[in-house]
Amino acid sequence: MSRVYNFSAGPAVLPEEVLKEAQAEMLDYRGTGMSVMEMSHRSKAFDEIIDQTEADLRKLMQIPDNYKVLFMQGGASLQFAMIPMNFMKNKTADYIVTGQWAKKAYQEAQKYGKVNKIASSEDKTFSYIPDCSDLPVSEDADYVYICENNTIYGTKFKELPDTKGKILISDVSSCFLSEPVDVTKYGMLYGGVQKNIGPAGMVIAVIREDLITDDVLPGTPTMMQYKTYADNRSMYNTPNCYCIYMCGKVFQWIMRMGGLEGMKAHNEKKAAILYDFLDQSRLFKGTVVKEDRSLMNVPFVTGDKDLDAKFVAESKAAGFENLKGHRTVGGMRASIYNAMPLEGVEKLVDFMKKFEEENL
Ligand SMILES: *Cc1c(COP(=O)(O)O)cnc(C)c1O
Repeated sequence: MSRVYNFSAGPAVLPEEVLKEAQAEMLDYRGTGMSVMEMSHRSKAFDEIIDQTEADLRKLMQIPDNYKVLFMQGGASLQFAMIPMNFMKNKTADYIVTGQWAKKAYQEAQKYGKVNKIASSEDKTFSYIPDCSDLPVSEDADYVYICENNTIYGTKFKELPDTKGKILISDVSSCFLSEPVDVTKYGMLYGGVQKNIGPAGMVIAVIREDLITDDVLPGTPTMMQYKTYADNRSMYNTPNCYCIYMCGKVFQWIMRMGGLEGMKAHNEKKAAILYDFLDQSRLFKGTVVKEDRSLMNVPFVTGDKDLDAKFVAESKAAGFENLKGHRTVGGMRASIYNAMPLEGVEKLVDFMKKFEEENL
């Protein structure tokens, strides 16, 4: 067996400890004689898994009692429709467009009402976060929407926008549990778990209880109403049981790593190694404004397409996988999520130094 350093943006690296635990429990989960994959979601064993998973997430994020935790399928992309269907009471919403995912959410919402783009960084290929301290928030906006960490472009909101009293809804897919958050600042935050938490196929949403109502757009399917999940502990239908189990294991791992404070320190250390190198490199350079750099996704280029391709090919041969940038951007991108070990980043930088010497 040989494991590579996997810099994929998602589905992404998981903690090796967690994979080994899952392996050990694969055939017989704690004396049940079956795998979690084979278990009824109505069983006592699974009931304990989902309960513990939610409790651990609440503890990690210090989620107040007046927020619900929902486990849903359909990926982060389904939320682009569910959010307007559940929250557009005035049929108006404000979106801040800082990348492809925010743009997709903005476009999808247009099917359901009047959607205003109140800020954007598209003028400079999403390489920065716009000033959001005094936005033209619409008087009748049902919510203000952001994508907090832009997976493709590598920017992150270091400060949340001033929503002028409107509810903030945030897509945290690629920065979920990467550092402490103040949940009370959000009406809803949500993320696909395949970036920083678990296997693909699930979204976790944290939503303020009073926002979860029956008052949704006409025609909203049962399975797309947050209330359906909230009223049934996310088990109105069969949830993604195995994914919930794996997320639970990752939550426990994060606790052993010192919780979100520990995670932040670990992530800052890794990101600093890579950014410090990029800042002094004569060959490679980062593509985003320094103040807005993401701790999770680090895009960089050589400035020469052929050399970029050579780097991607040679890095792969050396055991660094998935460093190719997003197909819409080109260049390279290293996603250094929670589970990427420090050693992975150190070795990548060593490799980049060597490549620089050979190719300057
Ligand atoms: C990956 C990603 C998505 C899309 O996730 P799916 O689960 O594939 O729908 C949405 N938002 C962000 C920020 C992402 O990184």
